[in-house]
Amino acid sequence: MSFRGRFAPSPTGRIHLGNARSALLGWLQARAAGGRFLLRIEDLDRARCKAQFLDDLYRDLEWLGLYWDETPLVQSQRDDVYREALEKLERSERVYPCFCTRAEITRAASAPHGLSEEGPRYPGTCTALSPETRTERTRTRVPALRFRARPGEWCFEDGLHGRCCQDVASVVGDFVVRRNDGVASYQLAVVVDDAASGITDVLRGDDLLTSTPRQLQIHEALGLQPPRFWHVPLVLGEDGRRLAKREGAFAVAELRERRLPVERALGLMAAWSGVGGGEPVTLAELVGRFRAELLPRSPVVAPEGLLKQALGLD
Ligand code: GLU
Repeated sequence: MSFRGRFAPSPTGRIHLGNARSALLGWLQARAAGGRFLLRIEDLDRARCKAQFLDDLYRDLEWLGLYWDETPLVQSQRDDVYREALEKLERSERVYPCFCTRAEITRAASAPHGLSEEGPRYPGTCTALSPETRTERTRTRVPALRFRARPGEWCFEDGLHGRCCQDVASVVGDFVVRRNDGVASYQLAVVVDDAASGITDVLRGDDLLTSTPRQLQIHEALGLQPPRFWHVPLVLGEDGRRLAKREGAFAVAELRERRLPVERALGLMAAWSGVGGGEPVTLAELVGRFRAELLPRSPVVAPEGLLKQALGLD
C-alpha cells in the first residue's frame, strides 16, 4: 500500500511551533515516501473548539507551505460513521453502558496528552450490571459506552521507540468510546478515521504513546488494519513541560502576523527535527534532507530566550 500520513489537530487554540513541527515531520515523511499527506480536524470536543482557531490553523499550514492532499475529514460531521462502529462493537459485546458521572466521561472527546491527564484506572463499577438494572437506569440517565479492555500486555513496534507494551486492562481499565451526550470519544474516532482514510503511518507527539494500545484494541475489535506509529518526542519549554497551546507559546499565527520570514520558522523546526542547524531553510531543501533515521528520539528543550533570538523577536 502506498504511504498515507496525516496531521490531526484539534482547533482548541492557536497551534504553536511544537505542533507545527509534528505537521512538518508528517508532511516531510509523506513527501519523502512519494505518498500522501492528509489533514483531519479533530473537533469532537465542541466546547473547546473554536471556528477562529480552525481558521488560523488552515492559514498557518498554508503559510508554512504544508499543503494537504484530499478534502480534510472533519470529525464533528461524522457522527453517523462513529455510530456505525459503535453498533458493531455493541453487537459483538465489546462495549457496555456506563452510568457513572465522572468528569472523565466529559474529557473523553479530547486526546489525553499522557496518562496522567486521564485520572485513575476505571474500577469497573458498571461492568457487570444485570440487564434489569441497565434497563432501569437507562430510564433516567443516558449511559456512556465503555470498551471492555482485553487483559494482558498489548505491544506494538513504534518506528522511534521500538517495542512498546501496556497492560491496558490494569493501567487504564475499560475506557469510554462514547460519552453520555452521544459524542464518540477521541480513542474511537481516531481509529475509525485513520482506517477510513487508509492511513498507513501515524506520526504524532509521544504524549499519545500511552493511547496507542487502546487504539490497537479498538482496531482489533473492529477488524481494522492498524497503521505504523511514529511517536516523536516533544518540544519542551525550559521548565521541562511541553509547549502548550493555552500559553500561546510561539503561536504560528503570531509569527505569521508579525511577518516573520517563514524560512526562519522552518529553520527552527528543522533544528528540532534532526534536519538542520537552526539556519533559515525552505521546505524544498528539507524534503531533500529528510530521512526517517534522522527523526529525533529524545525530547528537545527550547529555551524561550534562544527561541526568541532564533526568530529575531528580540
Ligand atoms: N487531535 C489530537 C491532538 O490534538 C491528535 C490525535 C492524533 O494525532 O492521533 O492532540
